[in-house]
Amino acid sequence: MATLRIAIAGGGVGGMAAAIALQKQGASVRILEQTKAYGRIGADVNLTPNAVHAVDKLGIGEALRRTAARPAFRISRMWDTGAETSRLPMSSEAEAKYGAPQLTIHRADLLNSLEDALAPGTVRLEAKVRGIEQGAGGAALLLESGERIEADVVIGADGIHSVVRRALFGADAPRFTGLVSWRATCPRAAVKDLPNLDSFTKWWGPTSDRQIVSFPLSRGEEIFVFATTPKQGWTEEGWTLPGDIRELRAAYADFHPEARALLDACTEVTRSALHVREPMARWSQGHVTILGDAAHPMVPFMAQGACMAIEDAVVLARALDGIRAADVPAALERYEAARKERTARVQRGSLANEWLKEGGNADWVYGYDAWGAALG
Ligand SMILES: Cc1cc2nc3c(=O)[nH]c(=O)nc-3n(C[C@H](O)[C@H](O)[C@H](O)COP(=O)(O)OP(=O)(O)OC[C@H]3O[C@@H](n4cnc5c(N)ncnc54)[C@H](O)[C@@H]3O)c2cc1C
Repeated sequence: MATLRIAIAGGGVGGMAAAIALQKQGASVRILEQTKAYGRIGADVNLTPNAVHAVDKLGIGEALRRTAARPAFRISRMWDTGAETSRLPMSSEAEAKYGAPQLTIHRADLLNSLEDALAPGTVRLEAKVRGIEQGAGGAALLLESGERIEADVVIGADGIHSVVRRALFGADAPRFTGLVSWRATCPRAAVKDLPNLDSFTKWWGPTSDRQIVSFPLSRGEEIFVFATTPKQGWTEEGWTLPGDIRELRAAYADFHPEARALLDACTEVTRSALHVREPMARWSQGHVTILGDAAHPMVPFMAQGACMAIEDAVVLARALDGIRAADVPAALERYEAARKERTARVQRGSLANEWLKEGGNADWVYGYDAWGAALG
């Protein structure tokens, strides 16, 4: 059987995970990535057991564990009293239950591990995609350089502002939530006297527009801090936009001292306006499909953005395993049928922002097996 030729727009988390799974099946894969170089941009990625189970089977689990932290618990606390309202074990007990623990990792370390698992030369940098072209028996990615990359399958893994999604289904209509998200890290030494530094802790505010999340990164040597503030009139989405830490601290002046101490220890912070996008009716057309944030961008309140992209990558590769080029459109239908309901549920659950506030059963999220889930 002829080798499937696959062209992926975007070498982020989902694009590289898909490429690894597809190469393992013998496909010929190229990734076209716009960035000049993978830098240490962004900060956290949260990988719950569903995603760690998926990447373990991709063969990169050991590499991830060298730099990741392994949160002991997932804890909910109240903003004023500090009272705990839920505590879920995420390490050995989660491993026994779900087949993998939770890992928290710097995005750059995750990207490095993914890239190392690819065949040399898979990723082409400084290759910005500007559109797609569909043909009867295949499709092509069109680059800004004027080049045309032909393939049997084109995958849009090009993130929140996906060019491939727009080419397939037109411009999306994001709705601003009225919330700004803030991200920062501080050395563990700066907060060493605080409790629960080895856990994922969410401080729930008096209203859903304020919350602080913290968890360990970089083998626990750094602590990541996430928070939100209500804001009108500023709607920029991005990962590198600088914020003013004093503004963030002021917005949390009435929080519990242990929560405020996290913000006091951070010096630099980035901010991004949070938008909502509704679940999409379709992801695929002919020989082209999308995955990850391109297909189902979500607000971060279940911390599942990267996890869903990784699950998509595995299920998509499984749907394409062993098929002929002529059968690609049907395989893409099976992929999206297998994934749409789950990702829509997580998109909506993230927006509701109640996840594990007072305990509850996390099995439907953390117990999902991307390698065994039924294909549509
Ligand atoms: C620079 C950056 C920093 C981030 N930092 C964080 C963070 O700190 N915390 C967090 O929770 N999430 C972060 N994210 C988002 C997070 O990685 C995703 O939400 C999640 O992993 C889903 O992965 P994805 O593969 O769908 O998208 P992404 O991981 O966003 O990957 C999309 C990739 O597509 C590339 N791309 C986009 N448009 C084009 C184009 N036209 N042509 C070619 N390539 C293109 C991008 O450069 C990127 O590498 C960040 C994303 C980026 C791009």
